[in-house]
Amino acid sequence: MSREQLAVQQARKAFLTGGSKPLEYRIKQLKNLNRFITERATDITNALRKDLYKSENATQMFEIIGLEGEINLAVSNLTEWAAPRPVNKTLLTISDEVFIQPEPLGVVLIIGAWNYPIAVTLQPLVGAIAAGNAAVVKPSEVSSHTAKVMELLSLYLDPEMYQVVTGGVPETQELLKQRFDHIFYTGNSTVGKLVMEAAARHLTPVTLELGGKSPCYIDKNCDIRIACRRITWGKYINCGQTCIAPDYILCESSIQDKVINEIQKCIQEFYTKDPKTFADYGRIINQRHFKRIMALLEGSTVVIGGDSDESECYIAPTVLRDVASGSKVMQEEIFGPILPIITVNGLNEAIQFINEREKPLALYVFSSSSKVIKRMISETSSGALLANDCLVHFTISDLPFGGVGNSGTGRYHGKYSFDQLSHLRSCLIKKLNMEGVNQMRYPPHTTEKLRW
Ligand code: NAD
Repeated sequence: MSREQLAVQQARKAFLTGGSKPLEYRIKQLKNLNRFITERATDITNALRKDLYKSENATQMFEIIGLEGEINLAVSNLTEWAAPRPVNKTLLTISDEVFIQPEPLGVVLIIGAWNYPIAVTLQPLVGAIAAGNAAVVKPSEVSSHTAKVMELLSLYLDPEMYQVVTGGVPETQELLKQRFDHIFYTGNSTVGKLVMEAAARHLTPVTLELGGKSPCYIDKNCDIRIACRRITWGKYINCGQTCIAPDYILCESSIQDKVINEIQKCIQEFYTKDPKTFADYGRIINQRHFKRIMALLEGSTVVIGGDSDESECYIAPTVLRDVASGSKVMQEEIFGPILPIITVNGLNEAIQFINEREKPLALYVFSSSSKVIKRMISETSSGALLANDCLVHFTISDLPFGGVGNSGTGRYHGKYSFDQLSHLRSCLIKKLNMEGVNQMRYPPHTTEKLRW
């Protein structure tokens, strides 16, 4: 039996004992997860520095604070989330008990990605634990140092109920052959299709947290300086390796020079004149991605940055101007510090441009006009829409986080994670009295009964 098979078998055996169901157990495990984050803070920080050159503060801000918030929210609200949810009664159910009872699904497979490896692997685990499931956690092998730290989870969580399996593509593929009750995958859309295919063999439901090209429309009627500050922040954090980073800018040609000028000022302010020697500017995860990103520059005009150092996987914050819609950089999610600007002839053309492509994970619109913002909401589709800011919707637990179409299926964060990894079971409890009322539905189905 392979290591992967054994992990799934052990998790299932543990789940079948019923041990994960009591709320006290779930809360204890969630608190233990919090303890892991606190006690292993140095290990986590060092690993992320090695994997992505993340600074200690960036790790706190973008990986840890949100995760702790999700854990605390689940601990505080679990009793309410897990309680039976009464529904409206009708004349026919007036003396019955009618409610929805959330119940655990069983064994959940969580496959993480490497860009925010702690957050995107452990936030789904919060939902899995809160909902009373067992779980098999597969951290991304690409962020190898962080994956190693996650092996230590077995010292904190119930090691039978929550299994961590490290390894690469073969190990993930072996896991995907096993039967799960839910698969929660974060990563690219190509692998997302393989995950869904494997899940279909067992009729296993999936949550797919994918990526894509998230557009950013800057209306000429807005404070361009402020817009560019927020966009520069959202784009170059983690060296552009953020699933909801603005992938490209759409704007009218009349404001393109101002946009470039403002972004240039922000890059210098945030990362100094020499981002390469600045401690708070990240690196590309590996040489494969470095080469992929550099190749995207082919055929486009670099107006800011463009310099790189393969030995360090360094790519400067880069902006491309007057980018053609058919250019190489517009064919795939960039997932790096390159920001193309495509000029359009106003809002109508921007909306058409967005709608001609796959539905994105996030859509950003910067405008002072509520009419422009409302049109963007009503005439396009995306996982999320933000007006006049970038990324921050990820931190709001009351907003469901997820994609639509090519950017994913399913949603999580806060109570949405709990619901996503629960079965919402319909329950109707009748009494065995008042049998007379039922005569109307029993045969023979006479016309008089219909009229009643
Ligand atoms: P990755 O390469 O780490 O892959 C993710 C997981 O898939 C890994 O655990 C890996 O083992 C597994 N995997 C890779 N190839 C496989 C194969 N052929 N068969 C089976 N399993 C395989 O991460 P990635 O895909 O490079 O991550 C980046 C992508 O993830 C981007 O598209 C980004 O937008 C997206 N992303 C989305 C979110 C979100 O919340 N929606 C968050 C982070 C990243």
